[in-house]
Formats: sequence, C-alpha cells, structure tokens
Amino acid sequence: MDIFAFVQKKPAEQVLEGHFALAELPRMIAEKAPGAPDEGGFQWRLSAADPAETKPYAAEMPEVKHFLEVRAEGEVWLECQRCLKPYKQRLEAGTVFALAASEEEADALPILEEGADVVVGSKDFDLAELVEEELLLAMPGAPKHEFGDSECVRSGSRKVHRQQKQDNGAEAGGKPHPFAALAAIKQGKTSK
Ligand SMILES: [Zn+2]
Repeated sequence: MDIFAFVQKKPAEQVLEGHFALAELPRMIAEKAPGAPDEGGFQWRLSAADPAETKPYAAEMPEVKHFLEVRAEGEVWLECQRCLKPYKQRLEAGTVFALAASEEEADALPILEEGADVVVGSKDFDLAELVEEELLLAMPGAPKHEFGDSECVRSGSRKVHRQQKQDNGAEAGGKPHPFAALAAIKQGKTSK
C-alpha cells in the first residue's frame, strides 16, 4: 500500500481494515504449534492516531507530521508449555507509531524513552510485516492453556497440579494488562 497517499486523506478517512491469513505471515507460522492446523488469521486496522493521545509524542517530535495507529487481533495455535498439546491463543496487538518519510528522517528523530515507535513509510508499504511485528510482540512469553482447562493434563501427578496452581497464582497476581506489557517491551525499542 502507498502509506503516503493514505496520510494525505482527511484524518477521519484514514482508515484501512482487512484480514491477514496465517499463511501471509511467515514469522507467525514459525511460532505455530507443530502439527496444528494452518487455520486462523488476524483482523487488522490502520488509522490516524487520536491526536489527544499523540500530543505528548508530537511535542517531542515536532518534525513528525503523521502518527498512525495499527491494531490486530485474532487467534493462532500455539504449543502449550505445560502439556505440549496445541491450543488456540487469542492475540491482541496494537501500537501508535510516527511515520517518517525516509530512513534519514527516521534517524534524525529523537529516541524517546516513552514514545511512539518510528516507522519509515514507503509507497509500497508492507503492512503485513508491520502487523506481524506487533503480533509477535503480543505473544505470551510462556504459552499455555488457561488454568483448569480439562485438555491440559499430563498423566496424573500431584506435582503437576501443584505446579498449575502456582502458575495460576502468578498470573492472577502479577500479570500486567496486555497493552501495558506491550508498552513495556516497546520502551526498549527505538526505531525500525
Ligand atoms: Zn496445556
């Protein structure tokens, strides 16, 4: 897609939506559980970012003319680390990014500790790659069935049950909101 033409539209008209099948996202296929079906895919949406949300970024990066938001959600089969069986994991990803007109412009932008990623635009912009990158960031660190899923059993051992309880406790107590976790990961990132 021509992302420069996209940002020339009125902000309210800067909306593009679609669906990527898993087969279109090679790095996601690599994450898929072995032997699991190739089904699944992701709805995505590219839009002008909410100016109220990007105000702080715009103050730090006055050179940037366009901030965009990309979101994606869908399901992929992952291998459960507890029982080693495939299970369907729902992923929700999203970010706001600053659109740079060229590599040079991107390099000249300040690196913000808490700010928008910088993405270099092009007339032949690879949206699938961008969506895929966000989905990879949204992947769980330790993929597993939800606690209590009857599918998720190893041949009856009490030790396993105790382990499951501990896992669950850790999630209930300290699991950050997915987008908060994403933001935390992205703080370490500068530009791409
Ligand atoms: Zn499992």
